[in-house]
Amino acid sequence: MAHSEQHTPGFKGQYDLGVQPPTQRTLVVRAAHQVTAEERERVQVATEYNGFAFSAGMLLVDFLSDSGASAMTDAQWAALVRGDEAYGGNHGLYAIVHAIRDTFERPRPRGQAPVVSRIIADDADDIGEWWRQTDAEEPAPNTFANWGRALRESPNFFVLPQGRCAENLIFGTVGEVLARENAPKPWRIPCNGFFDTTEAQASVNHFTPTNLFSPHFHDAFSVADVDRTNPFKGNIDIARLEKIFELGGTVPMVLLTVTNNTAAGQPVSMRNIEQAAQIAHAHGVPLVFDAARFAENAWFIHEFEEGWKGRPILDIVHAMFSHCDAFTMSAKKDGLGNIGGFLCFRNKGLFHKRFSTPEHDVGSLLQEKQIMRYGNASHGGLSGRDIMALAAGFYQVVRPEYLRRRVLQTRKLAVDLVKAGVAGVIMPPGGHAVYLDMTPFFEGTPIKIDDFAGVGFEIELIRLYGIRCCELGPFAFEWDQKNAEQRKGILNLVRFAIPRNMYNEDHMSYTVAAIAELYKHREKIPKVTVARGAELHLRHFQSGLKPDYYNGKL
Ligand SMILES: *Cc1c(COP(=O)(O)O)cnc(C)c1O
Repeated sequence: MAHSEQHTPGFKGQYDLGVQPPTQRTLVVRAAHQVTAEERERVQVATEYNGFAFSAGMLLVDFLSDSGASAMTDAQWAALVRGDEAYGGNHGLYAIVHAIRDTFERPRPRGQAPVVSRIIADDADDIGEWWRQTDAEEPAPNTFANWGRALRESPNFFVLPQGRCAENLIFGTVGEVLARENAPKPWRIPCNGFFDTTEAQASVNHFTPTNLFSPHFHDAFSVADVDRTNPFKGNIDIARLEKIFELGGTVPMVLLTVTNNTAAGQPVSMRNIEQAAQIAHAHGVPLVFDAARFAENAWFIHEFEEGWKGRPILDIVHAMFSHCDAFTMSAKKDGLGNIGGFLCFRNKGLFHKRFSTPEHDVGSLLQEKQIMRYGNASHGGLSGRDIMALAAGFYQVVRPEYLRRRVLQTRKLAVDLVKAGVAGVIMPPGGHAVYLDMTPFFEGTPIKIDDFAGVGFEIELIRLYGIRCCELGPFAFEWDQKNAEQRKGILNLVRFAIPRNMYNEDHMSYTVAAIAELYKHREKIPKVTVARGAELHLRHFQSGLKPDYYNGKL
């Protein structure tokens, strides 16, 4: 595996042709079957028009989620074949410990191959000696991944099946520690934007999740500025964060989601990370990252933030993580792999000090739960193959050419939709998705927010064009089940999340043409009623729907 590039070619491309240089080529192809609208409609009827239930094999482009849906690179597939399914001490774990250190805390000497590539090459003689040394090694005081004896005595690094498992461990364990201390309630956790599973895990463990979205989130943004500047709308509201500590109760940690998925995938600036860390540390509490899309966040800092522009991605990642004391992470994002998650905190750092007692090491409490619920520490509920693919993934997703293609593909979809005249495109787009606001989209028609026409739009995109997106508006957030005050927090959005390394210009231009056509005929988009399961929690995954083609069908 080549060493990741430290030098980033100019943003306009090395030779300034005004277009981006190619960054990859395709070696394996999956055919997209051509299916008629009538055939898709029959399946829609059979699956009660529920988007999640629709058969993916009948789609041409699938924007339902970027989670675990990305294509892996050939290096990741090579790593996967070299997976080790041993019950204890599988060699993928050696690869992943070093991948975590190389990515988040230390520069790897130029020219030194990552451990994962030596395992892929079956570099056995050398690796045997190297394993022995690693097991004997004393962990660095601030490392995110203890090893050998230290990992058993004071575990600080946990491999898990998904991000939500890491959330379950951290909130469950910290909650128990606070209960034992009789820490006064409410136990507020301030965050720039809780992801839905994160919020749910915090709530069931008796925390009060508190979203402090950027005060600039709703500021207007000109499409013309999209390559020039970024307002970092994923930032935490620093003024409100300072006030949280004066409210009484307990603030056990400050949480930053990078990038901020719930706030339309917007990035968080280095400056904001520094300020949040200062405030947390001044109050003696750890700063924790939900690091699901750390690499995409680093790209935005690299592209736009004064003082960081053009700096190597890995330097930026090291600097971001130098401010945090612990992180949870879904490895289904950022192109790391198709499944996996992590929880890490610094060896003997602030997180460890705050939540350990003379009787209980917080890492041991976490590890008990890990073993009981997911699997022993050396695999954490993942197969050895998946661990190897993730280890290789860490070296791929911080490459600037990969990240540039990734973020610019998302941006181009948003800009092309605006150019095609579609109203309601949220600008600037974040890293992983383009959002359409259905209120401006339906302006000039009699459609109202409680007609659930965003779902009608989703249904028609599937039926007519085989394109799947996801309504995250009044239907998903249960408008009809809420009071007037609660309804104020519901945005009228539809999301197009883009899987990584999967789609090319064909998919994108087809999508733009399809959305533009539906926009032109938006008076024919059906209103939708929830025919079954309106009262179910997270009903968009499970309820049945019924479109009303009151204006005739396109
Ligand atoms: C996806 C996601 C999670 C949860 O991770 P899973 O791997 O799906 O369990 C947590 N936080 C953020 C920001 C996410 O995007």
